Amino acid sequence: MKHVAILGSTGSIGRQALDVVRTHPDLFSLYGISAHSSEAPFLAQIEAERPKVAVFSRPLSTDVSGTDVRWGDQALYDLAADPQVDVVVLAISGIAALTPLLSALKAGKRVAIANKESLVCGGDLVKKALEVGEGELLPVDSEQSALFQCLENGRRDEVEKLILTASGGPFFRRPREELKNITPEQALKHPTWSMGRKISLDSATLMNKGLEVMEASRLFDFPGEQIEVLIHPQSVVHSMVAYRDGTVMANLSTADMRLPIQYAMTWPRRMPSPAAPLKLWERPELTFFKPDMARFPALQMAYDCLKAGGGCPVVYNGANERAAELFFAGALGFLEIEESVSFALDRFRNRPMRDLEDILAADGEARRLVDEFQKTRRSK
Ligand code: NAD
Ligand code: MG
Repeated sequence: MKHVAILGSTGSIGRQALDVVRTHPDLFSLYGISAHSSEAPFLAQIEAERPKVAVFSRPLSTDVSGTDVRWGDQALYDLAADPQVDVVVLAISGIAALTPLLSALKAGKRVAIANKESLVCGGDLVKKALEVGEGELLPVDSEQSALFQCLENGRRDEVEKLILTASGGPFFRRPREELKNITPEQALKHPTWSMGRKISLDSATLMNKGLEVMEASRLFDFPGEQIEVLIHPQSVVHSMVAYRDGTVMANLSTADMRLPIQYAMTWPRRMPSPAAPLKLWERPELTFFKPDMARFPALQMAYDCLKAGGGCPVVYNGANERAAELFFAGALGFLEIEESVSFALDRFRNRPMRDLEDILAADGEARRLVDEFQKTRRSK
């Protein structure tokens, strides 16, 4: 029996991870959950799931019996490292997941990681935490899970390239001029996946795929030159690995995140899952296109940041996180998201990221630069 902590349990991934735990009462028991900001859904989860520990961002307004309720950042890091926990599902969104990730890895946990921002920003710190401890990192992000599974079929030095598929988001076929006035509501309508707000927006801007290029590089230790992106609007092929003999391994399934979540938790075993089986004969044709880098500057910037290293990936991520907040608040236009990231990267003086303080400082700088961009835009 594995004891599971789901960090970010009220989110899209968190709720699906709970579903996986419930599906396998013989394999998993829920030890802890955590969430941020909205209290009602968290209280409902505590009532329904009765975890041993529940951590919220601030004190809860009502008492709960039977669950040890804690609050604040330190309580979150403690839950990630709790000696009772075997598997941590990291389903927090944004760079806020970085400290709990390091805490879990140092304590030797298996981390089923959905969060990509922490990997993009954490770079060498995550690598070091993996080297010094017994911790292991199993990808949940569907593309990374697909790469992980395809990589299980060959040796590393036999790999020619990793091929990340991208749905292209809801505006893949629209001319760029039309994108200027996209509203948050339009941006949140993802064609093939139902996800949290920020990642849905990132899929529309292609920032998500940019983050995933860097995420793949961090997880599997390949340079940008060996990572390719292909637009595949149907989201049936989740990613592929091309080997040097010309063989391409692909991973296919229905678009259901419970599948990669579960595999990260049960690896190296495969178990029955709640995901519907794939009926390829009922699918329309599967198509693939090379992305036009000029049309998707977010993707080109990610490759550039990966190559530059240092704080550039942190700034790419931090600027994007801030720009997304401003877009949802109606203070930035859709195309201004990538423009503000580019603005921040242009002004950032790159330097090595030696520790967490360096990373958080670069992240803060990126956010301030986006605010500066926003002010200059609005005063025009
Ligand atoms: P979401 O917004 O639906 O949920 C986020 C969760 O994190 C919530 O429980 C929230 O309370 C918690 N949280 C938010 N800010 C926090 C903070 N500062 N400190 C602590 N907790 C905080 O997000 P999601 O769509 O479930 O995505 C979670 C992560 O997984 C993201 O990094 C995303 O990129 C990645 N991911 C998601 C999907 C998907 O299908 N949703 C797919 C692949 C990867
Ligand atoms: Mg993904």
